Amino acid sequence: MLNSFPEILAPAGSLDKLKVAILYGANAVYVGGQKFGLRTAAENFTLDELREGVEFAHSHGAQVYVVLNSFLHDKDLSELPDFVKFLEEIHVNAVIVSDLGVVKTVAKLSKIPIHISTQASTLNVEAAKLWKKMGATRVVVGRELSVKEAGKIKREAEIEVEMFIHGSMCMAYSGHCVISNFTQGRDSNRGGCAHSCRFEYSLDMGLDTQEKKKAYFMSSKDLEGLRILPEFINEGIDSLKIEGRMKSHLYAGTMSKVYSEALAYYKIHGHFLSDDLLLWESELSKVSHRAYTSASLVQKAGAESIFNERENSSDTEWQMVGKVVEANPKTGIVIEVRNAFNQGDEIEILPFVGAAIRLVTLEITDIMLRPVSRTKPSTLVKLPFVDGVEAMQLVRQKVKA
Ligand code: SF4
Repeated sequence: MLNSFPEILAPAGSLDKLKVAILYGANAVYVGGQKFGLRTAAENFTLDELREGVEFAHSHGAQVYVVLNSFLHDKDLSELPDFVKFLEEIHVNAVIVSDLGVVKTVAKLSKIPIHISTQASTLNVEAAKLWKKMGATRVVVGRELSVKEAGKIKREAEIEVEMFIHGSMCMAYSGHCVISNFTQGRDSNRGGCAHSCRFEYSLDMGLDTQEKKKAYFMSSKDLEGLRILPEFINEGIDSLKIEGRMKSHLYAGTMSKVYSEALAYYKIHGHFLSDDLLLWESELSKVSHRAYTSASLVQKAGAESIFNERENSSDTEWQMVGKVVEANPKTGIVIEVRNAFNQGDEIEILPFVGAAIRLVTLEITDIMLRPVSRTKPSTLVKLPFVDGVEAMQLVRQKVKA
C-alpha cells in the first residue's frame, strides 16, 4: 500500500480506549493481548475483547494491529501458534513483531501482515530490505531516525514505513535498555519496564556527599511532531504512531482528535494556519505530559531533549471527569463520573469533531432526578441537553492548582 496521506495510529490500552480513539478519528489502533507484548502492566485485551475490538474497528473503517513485540524464550514461543491462529480467524490487520522467532512463526502459520516493531531498531535501507525479504510489509523505524531518513527507507526498500509522531520517549536506543532490570529487577524487553530513567539520580565523581550532583539525567522530554506533519506527508510516511497504551482515555481521545483533525485540514488546504496550529497545540498541552521536543525527527536529538525536572502536573493540564453514556434532546445528558466535580463548576465536553463544548454545571441530578451538589466517581448523573453532545464523548475539567 503506497498512501499519499498517512494514517493516524493510536494506542488502545483497553476495549473502551479503542472505541474512544476510533470515534475521535484514529484510522488504526494498536492493542496488546494478555501475552507476547511489551506492556505487561497495561490492561490488555482478553480474546473476547480482541474479537469485539476488531469488529468495532472494522465497522468504523479502522484497522487493528496486535503487538507481539516481546523477545521470547523457547517455552514462550511454543504458546504462540494458537494465538496467531486466533488473530487470523478474527481478521486483525497486522501484528507488530520484533523477535525473529516470532516473525518466522507468524509467517509460517498465517497470512497476517507483519509490521516490524521499533524495538528491532530499523535504521537503514538494507535492514528494511532484509525484513521485507523475511515477509514483513512494514517497518516501524527506530526513533533515532529523522523523517528524511525514514522517507529514504520507504523509497529505496519499497516497504511501508511507520514513525512515532507523539508520546513518551526512551532515552535508550529504541528501548534497548536494562536500567529497569538493574534497578528494579523488571525486564523492559519482556514488558516490565519500571520507567527507571524518570527517577532522580546522583552523579558520584569522587566529590564529597555535599557536592554530588542530583538530577534527572536520563528522563527524555515527550515527542511532539504536529508542526512537522507536512514533512511526514512529503516523505510518504505511511503511518503516524502515537505512543501510550498505558495512558488515559483523555489522552487516547485528545491525541486521535488533534492529529486526525490536523491531517484532514492539511489534506484539504495543503498548509496550516498559525491560529489553527496554536489551537491544536493548546489541546495537546491540556493532557498530562512532560515538556515537548521534536527529538530526532528533524535533526539529531541533543541535550535539550532531556527533561531535567520532577514530573508535576502543569498549569495547562485538564483531567477527565467523565464520559457521556447517553445524550437525548428530551431527557438530557447522562454522564458516567470518573472524577468528582461540583455543581457550578466549568467543564468541557470534547466533541468528536470541532471545538470543545464549554458549560457550567448549574443543574446536576442523579438518574432519579434528585439534585446533586457534588458528583461521586462511578455514579451516573444527568445534565440538561446541549447540542453537539453524543454518547462516548469525554468530559474534562481543568486541574485545580
Ligand atoms: S527505563 Fe526508560 S529508557 Fe529504559 S526502557 Fe524504560 S522508559 Fe525506556
